[in-house]
Amino acid sequence: MTEQFDHFIDGRWQAPADGQYFESTNPATLEVLYSAARGTGADVEAAVAAARRAFENPLWRDLSQTRRGHLLRRLGDLIGEHAEELARMETADNGKLLREMRGQLATLPEYYYYYAGLADKVQGHQIPTSSVEMLNYTQREPLGVVGAITPWNSPLTLTTSKLAPALAGGNTIVIKPSEYTSRTVLRLAELASEAGFPDGVVNVVTGFGAEAGAALVGHPEIAKISFTGSTATGSAIASSAASRFIGCTLELGGKSPNIVFEDANVSNAAMGVVAGIFAAAGQTCIAGSRVFAHRSVYDELLDKVAERARRIVIGDPALDSTELGPLAFSAQQDKVNSYVELGVSEGAKVLTGGCRPEVDLPGYFYSPTVLTDVDNSMRVVREEIFGPVAAIMPFETEEEVLRLANDTEYGLAAGVWTQNLARAHRMARRLEAGTVWVNTYRAMSPMSPRQGFKNSGVGIEHGIESMNEYTRLKSVWINT
Ligand code: NAD
Repeated sequence: MTEQFDHFIDGRWQAPADGQYFESTNPATLEVLYSAARGTGADVEAAVAAARRAFENPLWRDLSQTRRGHLLRRLGDLIGEHAEELARMETADNGKLLREMRGQLATLPEYYYYYAGLADKVQGHQIPTSSVEMLNYTQREPLGVVGAITPWNSPLTLTTSKLAPALAGGNTIVIKPSEYTSRTVLRLAELASEAGFPDGVVNVVTGFGAEAGAALVGHPEIAKISFTGSTATGSAIASSAASRFIGCTLELGGKSPNIVFEDANVSNAAMGVVAGIFAAAGQTCIAGSRVFAHRSVYDELLDKVAERARRIVIGDPALDSTELGPLAFSAQQDKVNSYVELGVSEGAKVLTGGCRPEVDLPGYFYSPTVLTDVDNSMRVVREEIFGPVAAIMPFETEEEVLRLANDTEYGLAAGVWTQNLARAHRMARRLEAGTVWVNTYRAMSPMSPRQGFKNSGVGIEHGIESMNEYTRLKSVWINT
């Protein structure tokens, strides 16, 4: 009998209103791990009502901003104390490497400490007036109940990017995690309760996007939606939010360019290209899936990337020796495979990979794949695959590669490999991407704001600026 998890609402476990559960499977072994409550409108209703009561509860509403920060610090400490447990849970749920999860867990408390520090720096200003009798000042207030919807590829980190600023701003929250990865987000809510957040401040309703997710987005008491996931779902959520004039922060898909110039250290660039696309089996929004190499270093880069890709150790994500785990679920494997087939039918060549590797586990594994003979007109270059598939293309000039790199509906991230400082600055200025990395890829911190340009998102996560996403500004006039 596998474990069964209810929703976490109002500081306690609550069974789903209609008694339905769904199973979650380990993508490496295909074992059923647990079942989670299949949320419906009634469960969302209960969670939002609890969050609304908590928002008005003096225990939370009147807590000083400094004390709010104190609770966030305690939550960060608890996450640190439970790091190994959380890392193992997430590896079992989505197949991410355990050593990568350990790395994530080593820094995750810092997100809570960072927002703990920001909690009492949220402030207004006194505004000059034309009369000495008039006092005008502004204050920043919480929004109310925030609805957070998160994907499966990095549940703990991506939930934290919403939860920590929402709590620092004095809001309450209802989280709907991905149906593929409910477990760590439920545990996070339990730890928030243990840290001392009053009942109802942090709630989790598990279930499917079209059921619990849609009910949360459409709930009239929700003051804001914070979403990370695909551009298609983000667009539907933005339309629903717009019809009720509520704000949303959307972190969406990507098809990021990773550009290697002729003056780059090609060995370092090859390692950056490999890490950019094959980390987490390519299942990251920032995956550097379009690689542009200057014609003069194209062959050398291709050899180095392909050689490293062939040596990647694929297998059980819980083993320290493994470098690439499985894809997170069966439909992901089908999707990646069908994109590679589509690429080939469009004229692409598979330099390496393009199949399920030999692994002594039954899970959803896919080989690191390098495609050549590709160009910007092909769907395999234009659309997000969300798997370990790199498309590598040559270019001749800086102007040409800028045009090619920016010729995409997405604008999440970009990588540039060059030893020419002036070129690095030029590229950073002209690339249409919310994050640009030069001679590195994937660097990230709670202090550094990130935003998706174009169809990659709306609003800012991380950094001081993110507090504006979770508070509203009021202007107060007093006739003295
Ligand atoms: P998804 O859009 O399918 O699902 C994301 C979440 O939305 C899930 O919890 C799902 O249940 C829910 N959902 C689905 N339909 C819904 C609806 N109609 N109403 C409300 N909720 C609904 O995305 P996914 O497959 O879970 O995640 C992969 C996508 O996420 C990729 O496109 C990836 O690029 C993107 N992503 C972006 C970032 C970023 O920071 N920009 C980070 C990670 C992942």
